[in-house]
Amino acid sequence: MPRSYITHLECSLTGETGYAAGSVHNLSAAGRPLIAQYDLNSLKNDVSKEEIWARPGGFWKWRELLPVQHADNITSLGEDVTPIVDMPKAAAHFGHQGTLIVKDEGRLPTASFKARGLSVAVSMARELGLKRLAMPTNGNAGAALAAYASRAGLESFAFCPDDTPDVNIQETEMLGGNIWRVNGFIDDCGKIVAAGKEKMGWFDLSTLKEPYRLQGKKTMGFELAAQLGWELPDALFFPTGGGTAVVAMWQAFAEMEALGWIGPKRPKMIAVQAAGCAPLVKAYDTGEKFATRWDNAHTKAAGIRVPQAVGDFLVLNAVRSSGGRAIAIEETQIYQAQAEVGATEGFLVCPEAAAAFVALQQGAQEGWIAPTDRVMIVNSGNGLKYEMPDSGARLDISKPIDFDALI
Ligand SMILES: *Cc1c(COP(=O)(O)O)cnc(C)c1O
Repeated sequence: MPRSYITHLECSLTGETGYAAGSVHNLSAAGRPLIAQYDLNSLKNDVSKEEIWARPGGFWKWRELLPVQHADNITSLGEDVTPIVDMPKAAAHFGHQGTLIVKDEGRLPTASFKARGLSVAVSMARELGLKRLAMPTNGNAGAALAAYASRAGLESFAFCPDDTPDVNIQETEMLGGNIWRVNGFIDDCGKIVAAGKEKMGWFDLSTLKEPYRLQGKKTMGFELAAQLGWELPDALFFPTGGGTAVVAMWQAFAEMEALGWIGPKRPKMIAVQAAGCAPLVKAYDTGEKFATRWDNAHTKAAGIRVPQAVGDFLVLNAVRSSGGRAIAIEETQIYQAQAEVGATEGFLVCPEAAAAFVALQQGAQEGWIAPTDRVMIVNSGNGLKYEMPDSGARLDISKPIDFDALI
């Protein structure tokens, strides 16, 4: 039976190590994310990457590199490995001469990559005896929380900005979660979770304020490496809100190198934000270590509308040390790109990921993406979860159909 090789957790800012595995944690004493550490030396000798990869199912196959100690606590909804889809026509359309592939995370339970983190975080909550979970959400995280919490028999409470896509709210309710629309931003929702802690007795599952969502997200890095024959892409584009995906990939790559699974090569890590909410891009451009809060954040790409992120410095570090960058995309370009990818490739990406196609176009034009680069874009969610434009075309069967008018 595979077991977890977790040893302890460490503060991501100070490196302080006194955080025990198997205890309840939020942020470190320094108020920054905790990163789980594993006994990679033992794991290296005990199990091969091929043995793990050959196991059936999705991200739970990486048990050794996840924090859950007892198999009984694993809360799963039949996840599978998400496919990598090549997009030669979209590459040509957006001016990239090299290979373009998309990791389609929209195929996970609740149709977004939030499933990875919440499946692991809820499993850990179960292991730690927590019964009531709460979090702020822009939509997808709340739905994934509701799904896995209900599955585990735990209570869940989510708070979202009032312009969160309706489908996410309805989905969360159908999945047995409690959710409220709040007339504020996601960080205002986070304040409600913090303020209600004593009275409601809930555990705060905010991303990166809870250490195990990051661990679940990490499996995307192992998975994509295995799918590509343990050879990472040259550039990896992430729609970036809180930045959990970027930080998690960075940890996954470091662990795989320590295990001898991959070499030292890293993809250029490209963090893509919306022009209406781009705190990380601003910090990147001005050379800051931390980002300042983005006021009046607006974008309909809800997953990347995060005015302030507690893991900001970790995202910026990964982006900078990989030779990547942070880039902001205008709202109109996001929706235009979404329709163009749909029409050229027959693939409905989410708006957050659509922004990454525009970023690729700029990278190809400006030369920070080379024509020979193998580029991967993470499609973080299924495009069907968002409101879409409707041409309103109608036909009236009580009259003859004018076929000439259809073209
Ligand atoms: C949450 C979310 C993001 C942002 O992910 P982070 O890893 O938190 O930056 C992007 N796209 C979608 C669809 C999301 O739900």
